[in-house]
Amino acid sequence: MMHEHPLLTQLNEKQRDAVSATGRHLLVLAGAGSGKTRVLVHRIAWLIQTQGVSPHSILAVTFTNKAAAEMRGRVEQLLGSSVRAMWMGTFHGLAHRLLRAHYMDVGLPQNFQILDSDDQQRLIKRMIRSLNLDEKRWPPKQAQWFINHKKDEGLRPHHLDGYDINERTFKEIYEAYQVACDRAGLVDFAELLLRAHELLRDNKAVREHYQRRFRHILVDEFQDTNTIQYSWIKLLSGVGQDQEYPSYVTIVGDDDQSIYGWRGARVENIQQFLQDYPQALTVRLEQNYRSTNTILTAANEVIANNQGRLGKELWTDGSIGEPIDLYVAYNEMDEARFIAGQIEQWHEQGNALQDVAVLYRSNAQSRVLEEALLHARIPYRIYGGLRFFDRQEVKDALAYLRLVASRQDDAAFERIINTPTRGIGDRTLGIIRDGGRERGVPLWDAAKQLVQEKILTGRAGNAVAAFTDLIDQLEDSMGDLPLGRQVDLAIKNSGLMAMYQAEKGDKAETRVENLQELVSACDNFNQLDDVILEDVSPLQAFLAHAALESGEEQAEEHQDAVQLMTLHSAKGLEFPLVFMCGVEEGLFPSQQSLTESGRLEEERRLCYVGMTRAMQKLVITYAESRRIYGQEKFSAVSRFVGEIPPNMLHHVRSQSRTSHHSHALGRFHTGASHEAFTQTGYSLGQRVRHSKFGEGTVINYEGSGPQSRVQVNFDAVGSKWLAVDYARLERC
Ligand code: ATP
Ligand code: MG
Repeated sequence: MMHEHPLLTQLNEKQRDAVSATGRHLLVLAGAGSGKTRVLVHRIAWLIQTQGVSPHSILAVTFTNKAAAEMRGRVEQLLGSSVRAMWMGTFHGLAHRLLRAHYMDVGLPQNFQILDSDDQQRLIKRMIRSLNLDEKRWPPKQAQWFINHKKDEGLRPHHLDGYDINERTFKEIYEAYQVACDRAGLVDFAELLLRAHELLRDNKAVREHYQRRFRHILVDEFQDTNTIQYSWIKLLSGVGQDQEYPSYVTIVGDDDQSIYGWRGARVENIQQFLQDYPQALTVRLEQNYRSTNTILTAANEVIANNQGRLGKELWTDGSIGEPIDLYVAYNEMDEARFIAGQIEQWHEQGNALQDVAVLYRSNAQSRVLEEALLHARIPYRIYGGLRFFDRQEVKDALAYLRLVASRQDDAAFERIINTPTRGIGDRTLGIIRDGGRERGVPLWDAAKQLVQEKILTGRAGNAVAAFTDLIDQLEDSMGDLPLGRQVDLAIKNSGLMAMYQAEKGDKAETRVENLQELVSACDNFNQLDDVILEDVSPLQAFLAHAALESGEEQAEEHQDAVQLMTLHSAKGLEFPLVFMCGVEEGLFPSQQSLTESGRLEEERRLCYVGMTRAMQKLVITYAESRRIYGQEKFSAVSRFVGEIPPNMLHHVRSQSRTSHHSHALGRFHTGASHEAFTQTGYSLGQRVRHSKFGEGTVINYEGSGPQSRVQVNFDAVGSKWLAVDYARLERC
């Protein structure tokens, strides 16, 4: 009997079939935690080790940069050698790489810059103004959504017929915006994909070059690819075209985890794949290795309420495990306090914080959670939250570098012309903008010309001239210095560092630290030479890295910390202990999803994704009352909780705490048992009347029995804390 290859020993039979099915296209369709990503990693190693495939001819696509780095590491670990030549990254990262290599073919300047979503919105706003459109009628955010959505569908302005006034106007904005981007050498995220797609579609030589190169294309999380991403894969694999060498496509995915429909992802791509690649082998994995039986069964029960699924079986021979905890909080502060308390216990029992994830539906929920964790002195990290490269001071510094790298970069120009303040006001900037528009030149050129022609004179003229000189001098002095030194120079000579140093307080201190951190980031970046693209200066490569980095790399990378993240960004990850919070009707499922068709099922898939992140223990929490946009809202528990078999749920009662704790916690109430509180005759959400303050709603309490105090939100005078015994509240 043949000995089994070591690469196959840690796999079950179905996984082995998938890994070793060479010479054909492959679809792995399977539920959460069944080893899809593991199969992908092993398949790459298998191809290289046993099939003589060069890493150079492999292209692997993942959903985040972090996932790509992890995957590369795991392949290298299996092989015991480096696989640098392999292309591995996100669709955006790979598209960027293609555009850098072929900038001329796609009509971009060599120093083109990536426009992030913030800057994109600002530019669109400017376009709306310059078209003399009413911003209220045509909100920049909506125009941004329109443009990106069309690009994701592969549509340019000339593809749009503009039947109605809405479409016509947005099309006009799209057109103007695109002209401005092209003139300034700016490329937004959606444009990266679209341009790279057009390059492959329209340029035969380039297409054939990559078709010859990539013999194997592998895609993780395929259920969340959009139209343009899928057609990219088709072009690269040369399907339907006569090719000398066929290339093979492996996709892995789970229709039940498709959660980006709202952003244009098309789960239908899975079925489309089977039509486009009819010879593909389909492998279904059915054993889950991640979660306890309880967690898995509960998740399966929830997702079973969706229609039109492709259908999958999922089982585990793992233990039954603990029941799923359900905690009903009085409000979001109580919820956060409870979670912090649970994490404290977990940690005291000798478990690592990094094994804990707190998942929420909307980003705004993180603030209260952060507050409670800070209070409990539990280190945490926001995964995919405000990214290092999104912070104001970092963006300021990067804008200097961008302008040095490309004088056409209008977005960078606008950001820093008066940061730090150098006496260039809105009026002057307005004149420069008008000049740029009339002459059809970048703001930089307009500024220089207006000074030369003495249209800008006096203080304003001098200030503008000093600014352009500063940038020119910066470029000269940066020369060929190492990247870190270049950035250090820019931060200091521009006056940015001095400006933030002069500010007072914690925030300013953090900003200075962030600027310093940017220099270290550059120093480290120099060493990561596999990220540096050919034919691109280190500065260019770093700027692209900063724009693409999805913030997964935060400052204290190695500290043991709890992970906070949205349910969306938890995709593909796993943690021994998972909290899902805010599981309330109107928040999760979201209010919007209750009215738009198809959205509710997407929310349920999101719930399935969240639940299946948990390995050992899942805790679900919800708040009976929650402040949303400054308004107190009362909600019922989410329908998804009702879909979990009741015998798998364990209702957790809040524990009593001492009252000094309540003061230390400020607005966090003591957590005295709800029953003790209701004995006082009031309940949360109840309407009451006070002789002086009038009517209001009970929103919080502390203490229990006759000593308790209630917080009432009075209609006329706002919220007040009152001692129950003295207040003589009437129930109404
Ligand atoms: P998701 O749908 O959430 O992305 P997935 O299908 O990609 O999940 P993996 O992350 O690859 O699943 O695997 C889930 C867990 O199960 C991982 O910890 C993985 O190492 C483990 N695992 C998978 N297959 C096996 C196996 N045959 N033996 C032991 N452990 C396995
Ligand atoms: Mg996976």
